[in-house]
Amino acid sequence: MKIDIKNAIENQCNGLLRTKSFINGVWVSSENESTFEVTNPFDNSVIANVANLGGSETKKAIDSANEAFKTWSKTTAEERSRLLKKLYQLQLDHIEELAQLLTLEQGKPLVESRGEIKYGASFIEWFAEEAKRTYGDTIPSHGHDKRIITLKQAVGVVAAITPWNFPNAMITRKIAPALAAGCTVVIKPAHQTPLSALALAALVEKAGFPKGVFNVITSDTAKEIGDELTANPIVRKLSFTGSTKVGKTLMRQCSDTVKKVSMELGGNAPFIVFEDANIDNAVRGAIASKYRNAGQTCVCTNRIFVHDNVYQTFVDKFTVAVNKLKMGSGLDEETAIGPLINSDAVTFIDGLVKNAVGEGAKLITGGEKIADKENFYPPTILTNVTNSMEICRNEIFGSIAPIIRFKDEAEVVKMANDTPYGLASYFYSNDYAKIWRVSEGLEYGMVGINTGMISTTVAPFGGIKESGNGREGSKYGMDEYLEIKYVCIGGVL
Ligand code: NAP
Repeated sequence: MKIDIKNAIENQCNGLLRTKSFINGVWVSSENESTFEVTNPFDNSVIANVANLGGSETKKAIDSANEAFKTWSKTTAEERSRLLKKLYQLQLDHIEELAQLLTLEQGKPLVESRGEIKYGASFIEWFAEEAKRTYGDTIPSHGHDKRIITLKQAVGVVAAITPWNFPNAMITRKIAPALAAGCTVVIKPAHQTPLSALALAALVEKAGFPKGVFNVITSDTAKEIGDELTANPIVRKLSFTGSTKVGKTLMRQCSDTVKKVSMELGGNAPFIVFEDANIDNAVRGAIASKYRNAGQTCVCTNRIFVHDNVYQTFVDKFTVAVNKLKMGSGLDEETAIGPLINSDAVTFIDGLVKNAVGEGAKLITGGEKIADKENFYPPTILTNVTNSMEICRNEIFGSIAPIIRFKDEAEVVKMANDTPYGLASYFYSNDYAKIWRVSEGLEYGMVGINTGMISTTVAPFGGIKESGNGREGSKYGMDEYLEIKYVCIGGVL
């Protein structure tokens, strides 16, 4: 089925296509009326012109979030939970419009966009439930006349800065626990994908959240917005998802006001196929973890290590599977690989391929830009790759699979860990002792064994080393938005 883009924009978004920012419950233009273009990565056509805000409007959003915090933080968990459940239901009621909008501005296939909207909604549902379980403790006292308890309290105004690769779910994964905890939020989405964030704001408004609790600042001057969000002492927490480079800058900036920070940063995921693995399953897992969103996820496989004894079998089967992936418009239901976010991304990964070939890698399939499709890059396989090549040192963030041969378990774990990143990792094996050893040996926040798909609301998502700190989702996700207060009651005689 083909979807008419004009129709999708004008009619099917059902009032969810918004172009103004959302501050204190009001849809606002920028003070100087400036806007920026949001384009469709499929063909670079303009989808919308969106309000281009700056530092002074950001300050207003922070002030309104601060005002709203006074009452929102005093609501009962039950009240917050009820509103979050309404928002969850609204997101599910509008899956189709939200998915189309997401594909239009981001490019990913519709089936993936629908998956993201459901995944995004699942965080809202989960934290609507967790809101009611933010228990403190009573602690055996150190003195006869004293009693000790702990309270968990909302940290305050939260700033969230999010990337373009998951324009809905990277926001709900932050705002759902924040709102559930009693915090208020100011969100700055990526300039490439503000429409999904504004559509979410329209649903927040419809759900009936009090004004000022949820604010969205749209802008193409990220630094100006980030400077205000990090310098303003009212903001007590910054939750960032994006590149390690920007994350480090923001952490530095937050240090002046000693904000609590959560950082979900870049990755360089190894995918290891041991000789005892089921190769067909490993091929399916590698396709899922490598080519989702055209390779543009932080948990995408970056380096594939295959044992010498099964190397050729894996490469042959993987090549057959990769050559079946259909490239095209995300709005076409048969598309498996959409465009990359822009032509800079294409130039970057094409450079990595050329460089790897120059360093001795062998091109098996793909590896060339497509003449009339500026933002597309074909799914590509490279063999004869070594772990020291530039392509293995970088986060590829695109549709290239470099394959490296190994002979020994200790050697491959060492190579897998030889990176500053530590987000997702994967391996395939049927040997239970090896499964324990390798799981414990991999220096990563997440390990997938015999699966290429690990993201779920119920498990803690996050990285170690330069992939960041903090966890999103699961029972641990709430703690990021809560402070523990210790209360000591004396004179109990
Ligand atoms: P990015 O360039 O770091 O941008 C992320 C966000 O930061 C965008 O909203 C961007 O705004 C903003 N930003 C950029 N410079 C800023 C500054 N000086 N001050 C304040 N904000 C600033 O990353 P990206 O290219 O959008 O996303 C890809 C990266 O995100 C990859 O490294 C990927 O691994 C990582 N990621 C990590 C996770 C995870 O959970 N660990 C999940 C998804 C993605 P503009 O767009 O307006 O420039």
